[in-house]
Amino acid sequence: FNASEAKPRTRSAALYTEALEHIVGGVNSPSRSFKAVGGGAPVFMKRGQGAYFWDEDDNRYIDYLAAYGPIILGHAHPHVTSAIVRAAENGTLYGTPTELEIRFARMLKEAIPSLDKVRFVNSGTEAVMTTIRVARAYTGRNKIIKFAGCYHGHSDLVLVAAGSGPSTLGIPDSAGIPVSIAHEVITVPFNDLAALDAALERWGSDVAAVMVEPIVGNFGMVMPKPGFLEGLCSAARRNGSLVIYDEVITAFRFHYGAASTFAGLPEGTDYAAIEPDLTALGKIIGGGLPIGAYGGRAEIMAQVAPLGPAYQAGTMAGNPASISAGIACLEALREPGTYERLDRLSAMLEAGLAEGARKHGIALTVNRIRGALSTHFCDHPVTNYDEAQDTDGEQFAAFFRYMLEDGICLAPSKYEAWFLTTAHTDEDVAYTIEAANRAFARMKA
Ligand code: PMP
Repeated sequence: FNASEAKPRTRSAALYTEALEHIVGGVNSPSRSFKAVGGGAPVFMKRGQGAYFWDEDDNRYIDYLAAYGPIILGHAHPHVTSAIVRAAENGTLYGTPTELEIRFARMLKEAIPSLDKVRFVNSGTEAVMTTIRVARAYTGRNKIIKFAGCYHGHSDLVLVAAGSGPSTLGIPDSAGIPVSIAHEVITVPFNDLAALDAALERWGSDVAAVMVEPIVGNFGMVMPKPGFLEGLCSAARRNGSLVIYDEVITAFRFHYGAASTFAGLPEGTDYAAIEPDLTALGKIIGGGLPIGAYGGRAEIMAQVAPLGPAYQAGTMAGNPASISAGIACLEALREPGTYERLDRLSAMLEAGLAEGARKHGIALTVNRIRGALSTHFCDHPVTNYDEAQDTDGEQFAAFFRYMLEDGICLAPSKYEAWFLTTAHTDEDVAYTIEAANRAFARMKA
């Protein structure tokens, strides 16, 4: 690996120009654009294998993007690949129930005990969107409370920004969302029980659910403070509202199960008191193919059609290819030592990044939770969205670009996490630390 051998990304640039003619913004998801890191052509990748990507100009990168989370086993993991091939050979879509779906549902239930019943969908967005519908159907209420900076996909209700305080209703975060819909959402700061209480005080009788990423993955990796999830759940329950955990990023990320049962939650966590009513899943559980799932208490899930009056359907839902990839991915994750390995490598990375930044006089806060970490260019802790925003975006953009030139692929946003995969090696991490040191030195120069 030698950055001086890096080839100019001329094909990426040309493909981007071409993509702009045909695909809106040149990308199929806005987070893939380089808009947040100064613009220009994103890198067009043509192949992934293990912890590496190759771009269209044949440059190799160590991948910490992991496709925004799903690729926890690295690219083209043989066990997952052969499961997908086998599924494809038997037909990818039937429109009938299959035994595979039962097998996978059982696996999820065994790993996440709060799931009495599940339903498979095609994305995290769909999973979250449906949990809200189900919560509304079950409670007969309309509003939801969510937390600032948590991302829950792009359905109307969750693309709503904070009002000016916990007692104000939301405003649309995107064009095309009616203010009337935004008024069904209240946004409060993460880790702030007083704000949650104030919102419940004001709007409680119409709050169907409190929705949260129990461990945040969308403004960096952020742990709930001790007592936060307990307080959230008890406040919601007192109010007759459901608790929805969005575990699209977090399930199977830190251990073989959900964040809500992860032993690494703050010391003294009362696990029985933080059990959610509904959970949304996605990313890792599809092994790199499109998937989402939601589930929870049987009596609540009984709202869903054909059992109940809340409608949700999907032509592609539970397709044998995605389910097979998901089963294979979870089987591989279940191998002893998986999460210890991710933890060890990311601890090494965290230590190297922190030491490098200190050595070069760069203010850097690293938040790490097992195999996921986030880098915040600031000199304060990051425990909520305000603190994550109050970081140096230009420094991040410079760091991102120096790392890319040096063959390290990060997400092009200061809010996104780095994900270790089981394919990363000690050498990959050591090289990454060297690259970070070179980047810090250039940032100071
Ligand atoms: N919830 C969370 C916590 C997410 O991070 C994401 C995607 N980053 C989603 C929901 C939406 O998932 P998808 O992109 O699969 O629709």
